[in-house]
Amino acid sequence: MILSISNRGYFSLKTTIFLLSFLFLVPSIVHGQSRKEQVSSLKNKKVVYVWGGWKSHHPEKTVDLFVPWLRSEGAIVEVFNTLEVYADAAVMEQADLIIQQWTMGEMTKNQSIGLQKAILNGTGMAGWHGGTGDSFRGNLDYQYMIGGQFVSHPGGKSEFKVKIIDRKDPITKGLKDFYVKNTEQYYMLMDPNVKVLATSKFIKASYLKKGSKKIENVVTGSVVPVVWKKNFGKGRIFYNSLGHNIEDFDVRVLMEIHKRGIRWAAESKYSPKEDLISPVHKY
Ligand SMILES: [Zn+2]
Repeated sequence: MILSISNRGYFSLKTTIFLLSFLFLVPSIVHGQSRKEQVSSLKNKKVVYVWGGWKSHHPEKTVDLFVPWLRSEGAIVEVFNTLEVYADAAVMEQADLIIQQWTMGEMTKNQSIGLQKAILNGTGMAGWHGGTGDSFRGNLDYQYMIGGQFVSHPGGKSEFKVKIIDRKDPITKGLKDFYVKNTEQYYMLMDPNVKVLATSKFIKASYLKKGSKKIENVVTGSVVPVVWKKNFGKGRIFYNSLGHNIEDFDVRVLMEIHKRGIRWAAESKYSPKEDLISPVHKY
């Protein structure tokens, strides 16, 4: 077949488009699933599960609670009992999601930068209670990334109601308000740029134990976020402040929120970025 110059130009453009399309297709073929499947699935997602820190939150037990479930959903999970993984660029670049249960403790500069870099580039992060919302207390960059910092749990353990305030978001859609008991109600300092999905109210006139001589800052009437989502660069952050006891997750609604939040956060690299910078929420 004889081609004119202009035809040659046409075909070379077509060939270029064809080759370019492979550049976009190949990663999803390697990933082993179509984009549509990825939207609601952990299948083949690479999850880095990091546990450690303050022992009273029983971080090791959380591995037994969540890792078998993550694997049953098809996730490829690596479990680490060290923060050094955050400084390992090869692992972090591959990670779709980090789940961290590490209360207090300290990160090195390299670990902190490695974690931030990964999230900024699209790795998601999911966590709960002190293991994510009270980690590395002196690290402002970390707090900026998570969107909230624990400062107190007035009254220690108590029973309280959790109110779902966003019934349209897929993480809380169709779920009802619920109660948790014998657990900590976190009072948190908040980033304004988060989408709050659930809250709890401090309703007791006093949270001091009878006979206590401590000085109380009365928080009665305060409504504090319990569950939120946010962006940090290209990465999605999901957080829930409950879970002092592993038994908290026996509350069916809480576990459902948590699983949905984990699935959502693992999607950062595959789904469009949601506009969460100016959230509409009332609490
Ligand atoms: Zn706790």
